[in-house]
Amino acid sequence: MSEKKIPYKIYLDESEIPQNWYNVRADMPTKPAPLLNPATGAPLTAEEMSGIFCEELVAQELDNDTAYIPIPQEIRDFYKMYRPAPLIRAYCLEKALGTPAKIYYKFEGNNTSGSHKLNSAIAQAYYAKKQGLKGVTTETGAGQWGTALSMACAYLGLDCKVFMVKVSYEQKPFRREVMRTYGAEVTPSPSMTTAVGRKILEEHPGTTGSLGCAISEAVEVATSTPGYRYVLGSVLNQVLLHQSVIGLESKAALDKYGVKPDIIIGCAGGGSNLGGLISPFMGEKLRGEKDYRFIAVEPASCPSFTRGKFAYDFCDTGKICPLAKMYTLGSGFIPSANHAGGLRFHGMSSTLSQLYHDGMMEAVAVEQTAVFEAAEKFARIEGILPAPESSHAIRVAIDEALKCKETGEEKTILFGLTGTGYFDMVAYQKFNDGVMTDYIPTDEDLAVGFSALPVVPGQE
Ligand SMILES: *Cc1c(COP(=O)(O)O)cnc(C)c1O
Repeated sequence: MSEKKIPYKIYLDESEIPQNWYNVRADMPTKPAPLLNPATGAPLTAEEMSGIFCEELVAQELDNDTAYIPIPQEIRDFYKMYRPAPLIRAYCLEKALGTPAKIYYKFEGNNTSGSHKLNSAIAQAYYAKKQGLKGVTTETGAGQWGTALSMACAYLGLDCKVFMVKVSYEQKPFRREVMRTYGAEVTPSPSMTTAVGRKILEEHPGTTGSLGCAISEAVEVATSTPGYRYVLGSVLNQVLLHQSVIGLESKAALDKYGVKPDIIIGCAGGGSNLGGLISPFMGEKLRGEKDYRFIAVEPASCPSFTRGKFAYDFCDTGKICPLAKMYTLGSGFIPSANHAGGLRFHGMSSTLSQLYHDGMMEAVAVEQTAVFEAAEKFARIEGILPAPESSHAIRVAIDEALKCKETGEEKTILFGLTGTGYFDMVAYQKFNDGVMTDYIPTDEDLAVGFSALPVVPGQE
């Protein structure tokens, strides 16, 4: 086949926004383990879940069999405001590295929330609205998810209550104001407004909070306020499903030019962007049609895949959420205070955890100074100021491209550039001032988190 000249940006037409989400679980020989009711240890029923989540989203969460799920037209109309997202050939980066590798990245930062999270926020808000609910509650750490959800709720006329991890609430006042501009009510977590927040504050006075605490508070408010449900920005099967638009568009763009990636790389916090990016490619691998290498990149200071245990665990600190089987560091794990790079959730998507456990993908952990070096290089060469989270994927894409330089192999690398870093300038400042440090938890540090894993009958 004669090779077509690949443009710097491959744009799809509006009509090429996917009509369906792709559900990778349908092609998995071993399905992800079900969520369990923490009180009984039995799989959570749809009825039990519907007290927490919207009905349609419960159906998506439990559906391990339907490969293609239609995207409602209203959601596709919203997607049109910022999708299709461009797939960029990193010609400048390839040249600067002097690598024979061909590097592509899917850029998801082209919207005000600045990340891929809007892809699932609009879907979750849509189903809440369709069910006739008044509003939704959620947590946010760095603030991208809260911002995305605020935008989606403003568009649909839904109330949005966000519990924001206290340290971010204080360090990122502008994130907070963006959410309030879109009409959200933002509360620093842990707060005195919930029973679980008061309990956490009593046990850990002065705590600056964690995602796990904020989740507990948001779930409590959703389950105790009529007309409200809880929504989550990552980890869940439904979120990976919505994020499959990233992979579907990437694949459609590459297919136009007959390009097949060898290596697909994404950063992994709760696993939603990585899951969404790799899903259609993973489907081909699971069906035995094509082979790819998939690499999850996580921070060395929060190493769920590379050093965690594959076990049932709580998703939140207050232990009021269902149990999920996943690679986890324990629900009490909080990354060290010097960690600035995001991706700080203690667990990982059950779907990706199962795929990793089955040897279908790899994972690497990287230290934050190396991540910011890659971020700075990328900003200077490709022009986009990347989010620290996204820069984990950049780091490993550069490392793989440099390996190709040594071996002379012309591999094709695709990575997910999940967002922009304008609200992360305190972290960049630390890096620029040369005061950013690395911290890798010791085995003893991790043992503390593991010792608090719940005992589930029938689990090792
Ligand atoms: C939230 C976020 C991530 C990590 O979340 P995943 O669910 O693992 O994708 C990565 N990059 C950006 C920009 C984010 O906002």
